[in-house]
Amino acid sequence: MRTTSVAEGPQVDSQTTITTTMKALVYHGPGRRSWEDKPRPRIQEATDAIVEITTSTICGTDLHILKGDVPEVTAGRILGHEGVGSVRETGTGVFGFRPGDRVLISCITSCGKCDHCRKGMYSHCRAGGWVLGHTIDGTQAEFVRIPQADSSLHHLPEDADEDAMVLLSDIFPTAFECGVVNGQVQPGDDVAIVGAGPIGLAAVLTAGFFSPGRIIVVDRDLNRLEVAQSLGATHVVNAAGHPADEILAITGGEGVDVAIEAVGVPESFDLCQAVVAVGGHIANVGVHGRPVSLRLERLWSHNITLTTRLVDTVSTPLLLNMVASRRLDPTKLATHRFRMSEAMKAYDTLADAARERALKVILKKG
Ligand code: ZN
Ligand code: ZN
Repeated sequence: MRTTSVAEGPQVDSQTTITTTMKALVYHGPGRRSWEDKPRPRIQEATDAIVEITTSTICGTDLHILKGDVPEVTAGRILGHEGVGSVRETGTGVFGFRPGDRVLISCITSCGKCDHCRKGMYSHCRAGGWVLGHTIDGTQAEFVRIPQADSSLHHLPEDADEDAMVLLSDIFPTAFECGVVNGQVQPGDDVAIVGAGPIGLAAVLTAGFFSPGRIIVVDRDLNRLEVAQSLGATHVVNAAGHPADEILAITGGEGVDVAIEAVGVPESFDLCQAVVAVGGHIANVGVHGRPVSLRLERLWSHNITLTTRLVDTVSTPLLLNMVASRRLDPTKLATHRFRMSEAMKAYDTLADAARERALKVILKKG
């Protein structure tokens, strides 16, 4: 297949064009990972691009994979579904990007043409969805192959801060689309966000776009509750106490208009059901591995709406503009920075997040 190589463009780099191996963070089955040599990816389809990663990050989902919770990830897989980089090579069917372009990689790969994509449901693209670091090699590497490049990459603004941009690959669209948009946060609404991990905290920041009333954040980690307050939470509630009673007391016994579930365990879903007000919304964001009980005997008459969603990343252009116009600063969630070659240490830090006070760890090229 004929490809456009970076050697034809202005940024000739003889070192990288002749090297055939690269370093990457590789999954070797539950509990096992290593930083090792892998073959550099090549164009396989006309719609592919090869991107040199300049900034990446580790997701809570990567930790789930390492625990063996995501069995479709097989040994030998390069992890990572978030990244920013520079296009090095494009297939003949890529028209929107050229070698040398700086890009944001969406965690969701989409063709833009299938029936699900045409409905804006990119997460269920027939030719993509969540594939990076899942069913194909991911972004915690020096280079990555991005299928369906035209609809899966975004151009970076000129003066973009890569540390901010990389948080738009996954966590900000996830918190915004699955939590804030599906929860239909309106001006004056009382909102409870259950879980103050990076997704819950990104929901605090993006709920602010709609000028809600109270923003009540629930977690067991007191450091994270402190961060939530600094980001705009009006109230924080320790999940280890009696969170439902506290939320009802804060809202005069009414409950909240929007309850965003950002943990993914039955207890946090139960809490959302216990505190949702009449006419309210429960927006599930958490990844659930166990069944939950639906309290329909209480909620059947309460006019509530329950939503579930896998992030579609349809809001990425909006979020890029919010960052460019300085209405949103994602870097508030970046607590640690490592070189990519220190990825093993970065994983250790995130695995011990409470003690390390880690939210998002940023990996920089090198
Ligand atoms: Zn993720
Ligand atoms: Zn599609």
